[in-house]
Amino acid sequence: QIRAENIHKRFGSLEVLKGVSLTVHKGEVVVIMGPSGSGKTTFIRCLNFLEEPDQGRVVVCNVEVDCGVRAASRERSGKIRQLRTRAAMVFQSFNLFPHMTALGNVIEGPIQVLGMKREEAVKLGEQLLAKVGLAEKRDEYPSRLSGGQKQRVAIARALAMNPEVVLFDEPTSALDPELHEEVLQTMRQLARDGMTMIVVTHEVKFAHDVADRVVFMADGTVVEEGVPQEILVNPKHPRTRAFLRLVE
Ligand code: ATP
Repeated sequence: QIRAENIHKRFGSLEVLKGVSLTVHKGEVVVIMGPSGSGKTTFIRCLNFLEEPDQGRVVVCNVEVDCGVRAASRERSGKIRQLRTRAAMVFQSFNLFPHMTALGNVIEGPIQVLGMKREEAVKLGEQLLAKVGLAEKRDEYPSRLSGGQKQRVAIARALAMNPEVVLFDEPTSALDPELHEEVLQTMRQLARDGMTMIVVTHEVKFAHDVADRVVFMADGTVVEEGVPQEILVNPKHPRTRAFLRLVE
């Protein structure tokens, strides 16, 4: 279970998150939608402390970190490290290591962070590349992969850490439209496998088909949340209605 309680975040005078709470259960797929600038990306980055929240608490499978604690302690950094291994991130812009092959990118974390033996990591990496449909690209460098292929390597890399939850930050928005579907298919498969997922995306059809719950954010708060049918087909809040008219 992942729990974010009352997350606040400001950048200078801009209050980006004004007390956002979210609980996600094991195996659940939650899609976060909302207008540009509403704080979606900042929120999921707060879940694994890529951004340090100013206030609130994050709990990922019993690892609990209070936010807004100014004094860094060894215990706290240890907890943040644990939390990051449990909550893997897939970024909009892939963030692959350019000097490593597809396989190299996937096995780096297990070897460096989890202390896995190389041989074992290679076996795992090959399995995961096969799972995302890229077995034959294991020795290619990112510069020779398409955007969709890069994002699928990034998904394999996230899975290699054996996370409790995968956080997706607009995983298709840097891709040409014709490449969206291959990434969404991989994500659909992951959802079918029972992976817990939090996905920031504007892909309404994906949200409709795959999400157990859709959370709609605006101006740094959760405006409404519910099953896709409720939020995407019969939204109550005017902000949700206005947004859906724009993206559909
Ligand atoms: P989009 O859909 O456009 O990605 P979003 O809902 O994900 O938008 P965020 O990326 O979380 O929104 O940004 C929320 C606000 O915080 C924006 O106004 C953005 O300019 C600001 N912001 C985000 N990161 C930083 C930062 N590191 N420093 C200063 N301001 C930031």
